[in-house]
Amino acid sequence: MLELLTEKFGGTLSKLKGARKLTDKVINDALRDIRLALLEADVDYEVAKSFLKRVRERALSQEVKRNLSPAEQVITIVYEELVNILGKEKEDLKKGTVLFVGLQGTGKTTTIGKIANLLKKKGFKVAVSSTDVRRPAAMLQLERLAERIGVPYYSFEEGLSAVQIAERAVQRAKQDGVDYLLLDTAGRLHVDEELMEELKEIKERVKPSEIIYVADAMQGQTALETAKTFHELLGLTGVVLTKMDGDARGGLALSVRESLGVPIKFIGVGEKVEDIEPFYPDRIAQRILG
Ligand code: GDP
Repeated sequence: MLELLTEKFGGTLSKLKGARKLTDKVINDALRDIRLALLEADVDYEVAKSFLKRVRERALSQEVKRNLSPAEQVITIVYEELVNILGKEKEDLKKGTVLFVGLQGTGKTTTIGKIANLLKKKGFKVAVSSTDVRRPAAMLQLERLAERIGVPYYSFEEGLSAVQIAERAVQRAKQDGVDYLLLDTAGRLHVDEELMEELKEIKERVKPSEIIYVADAMQGQTALETAKTFHELLGLTGVVLTKMDGDARGGLALSVRESLGVPIKFIGVGEKVEDIEPFYPDRIAQRILG
């Protein structure tokens, strides 16, 4: 995860360490290297552009502290701006019904299991259910996962629509006094109108506290485009990036907040149920800068 950025930024910063003064040339050379690193890491073009603009303005401005070396000054600015685009603060999940949306194969079901486990360990009362009526195997996958983790899976008689399942699950969660109801939704191989209509209707009926988009970090920019479509139609409240363990570029992590205006809440770092971490922008920025 993020190895490419760490390596490239490391190279830029060690070059900077040789510079005695922060001249225009030193700054421009550093920014050029950083720009290349960001684009190679698959960071969204507009995000990279506005990031560099802010770093340049600050590096050239008076706010730079005189008692720091040129390298330290640039590192400080780059660090702060990284934290800025990553989202500043870690965000928690709001209690209530949490709807998970996204395409098939991104890791939606696995993520629900991971988050259910995490919340349960924190002492919250959690239940899960699936509205993926077209794929009984997907429902069964979540049911098995819930069993293993030890949280209730709400199942209902056959023949109900996705919207009906969502409504009943919410009712049941209320009766049970559940803190978090995690609801899986249908995943398709691509965005289609029927899926979006179904999700919009579920949203209207159950008024979720969160709508979380699950994105596969390995898909980079493609995942960002799909997330934008979901965001326009549903109004996402957060993103989980899965498969960060397999993505050395990390571009999506840097692009999501700035491009969608939606926080990354968790990252998936493996296939096991424990392989999830809250997203801490400052730690990620530190990791990138090595
Ligand atoms: P869904 O179709 O979106 O519900 O996807 P699944 O939850 O079934 O996951 C699809 C595949 O991705 C499975 O093989 C999971 O084990 C794998 N997967 C999910 N999250 C991660 C992750 O963070 N890291 C890795 N390496 N694999 C993951």
